[in-house]
Amino acid sequence: MTTEHSRSALERLREYYDHEELVCPDCGYEDADGGWRSETNGDVVEYSHECPQCGAVRSHTLDVHEE
Ligand SMILES: [Zn+2]
Repeated sequence: MTTEHSRSALERLREYYDHEELVCPDCGYEDADGGWRSETNGDVVEYSHECPQCGAVRSHTLDVHEE
């Protein structure tokens, strides 16, 4: 049950990043065709996004085991 809960929480966060955080805070460019890249090593999931216009990189690291 804990697994289900964390999975859905991660899914929601991923959707949030994909849909709500594509506007660059530095230059205001909206990367409508882009998305967050996610990488995981089993303990954390790291999301990163590079603005195609100004090159600013943002990243979020999520603890998979966080409850
Ligand atoms: Zn930018």
